[in-house]
Amino acid sequence: MRSTMQGTPLTVASILRHGVEVHGDRRVITATGDGFRRSTYEQVGRRCGQLANALRRLGIAGDDRVATFQWNNQEHLEAYAAVPAMGAVLHTLNIRLSAEQIRFIAGHAEDKAVIVDSSLVPLLARVLPGLDTVKVVLVTGDDGDLAPLEGSGKAVLRYEDVLGAESPEFAWTDADEDAGAAMCYTSGTTGDPKGVVYSHRSLYLHSMAACTGNGLGIAEQDRILPIVPMFHANAWGLPYAALMAGAELLMPDRFMQAAPLARMVHTERPTVAGAVPTIWNDVLLDTEKDAGLDFSSLRLVVCGGSAVPRSLMEAFENRLGVTILQAWGMTETSPMASVARPAVTAGPADAWRMRATQGRPVCGVEMRIVGDDGTPQPRDGQAVGELEVRGPWVTGSYYQVDDDARFHDGWLRTGDVGHISAEGFLTLTDRMKDVIKSGGEWISSVELESALAGHPDVFEAAVIAAPDERWQERPLAAVVLREGAIVSPGELRSWLSDKLPRWWLPERWTFVEEIPRTSVGKFDKKVLRGDYADGRLK
Ligand code: ADP
Repeated sequence: MRSTMQGTPLTVASILRHGVEVHGDRRVITATGDGFRRSTYEQVGRRCGQLANALRRLGIAGDDRVATFQWNNQEHLEAYAAVPAMGAVLHTLNIRLSAEQIRFIAGHAEDKAVIVDSSLVPLLARVLPGLDTVKVVLVTGDDGDLAPLEGSGKAVLRYEDVLGAESPEFAWTDADEDAGAAMCYTSGTTGDPKGVVYSHRSLYLHSMAACTGNGLGIAEQDRILPIVPMFHANAWGLPYAALMAGAELLMPDRFMQAAPLARMVHTERPTVAGAVPTIWNDVLLDTEKDAGLDFSSLRLVVCGGSAVPRSLMEAFENRLGVTILQAWGMTETSPMASVARPAVTAGPADAWRMRATQGRPVCGVEMRIVGDDGTPQPRDGQAVGELEVRGPWVTGSYYQVDDDARFHDGWLRTGDVGHISAEGFLTLTDRMKDVIKSGGEWISSVELESALAGHPDVFEAAVIAAPDERWQERPLAAVVLREGAIVSPGELRSWLSDKLPRWWLPERWTFVEEIPRTSVGKFDKKVLRGDYADGRLK
């Protein structure tokens, strides 16, 4: 029997229409450095119409790719909504990648137009002449010099001038829900970056999952602060979820440092915020310096992208009264796949144990652990192997790249290693490229880092594999101490000794000023390993 239901496609256009028509008075607030500019979804909707008309006039048709080179702000939201809703494909470029990577990615995606923030013009100017497929550049923001872009052979126009000449009315296309709506490239820590193409359907379902109570529970009463950049895996889906739920958006623009972020929380009172652990660690330090900062508006801090140390969650809870919710995902999974909400039946100790894991999958995503021979492993909290996932917002391939090795019987191989407990909680012990294999056994760099981060004098710590004659590999801990602290490796070893197996404890220690970060703010272990190999780490 066929259902009697209407086959209305799940599209970004329908998310946009809903946000504007039902929640038109909810606001989008963007930081300006000395204050905030405020707009409503109704106004954003009108500007989306103007943007779509302008892009059509400038020759954007069919599934042409429109790239963004922008901060988290209102104009980026306009591109997020208008570009897919007009049937074109949004391509968020990571502004922190090297010129060579940006050239590769924009060329591979065949971007036709780029929307760039005026403060990023000098950065784009370095790569623009090499972006052969790009014909048009729209510059947002009314300040800034366009001269660096001249001579590039592209049409360079000011976003506001172009929008100002257009009608806000646009007949949004209800596209085929399986058509590409947006794309994002993986950061390419190994090999060339690879493109993931999100469909209208996948974005829609992913946004709905973010709005469910077991997901992030995004609703109209929320004001969301997406600190995770909008070029990093859809800003974890927060902008689309906000439009869908009528939640307000508090956009930090380029003011992504701990001090302005903490002030934003204090004055603009977001209820939900999302960022990688390194940012929250910096913010925590800031709140220690200024005890007057009020974080009581935050009902939820979403944290993921790398393992969240339990000590960080405890510090937020105990000092600020704020709950950190750990989530796991990747560019390939849109990204939200699992969240670490404790089981409702758990007592306090179990709840903490569960919160420190990567969590349980949100409905729609399935997970399994497979052994070296590709067979699924028992969910017993013991059997360790590679995590595989599948679901309607998990990619089934990469854009124009055959990479069969990353897929297995319809499952995505994540490259993450861990185990799943009988209660269904996923614990990641490492990424395959970061594992430490010592005498044939795995040592979890994640657990070592998390335990070290709990030491009162440690600000942060990263653990990598160091080649070892006898054991093949041994852990090397790179530690950043808190200001003024003096601790010896021996003291740190003894701190770890009752928390982890003895043979895991590092013999090699290095004290550094800071740990190198990737373009999305995670510890860059590749750089650390290189520094160690070249003798730069003492
Ligand atoms: P990359 O880190 O390579 O730039 P992504 O941003 O797509 O690319 O990151 C995905 C990876 O981040 C996952 O495969 C996993 O290794 C790591 N990750 C994400 N969330 C968590 C988490 N909560 N705990 C541990 N690792 C995480």
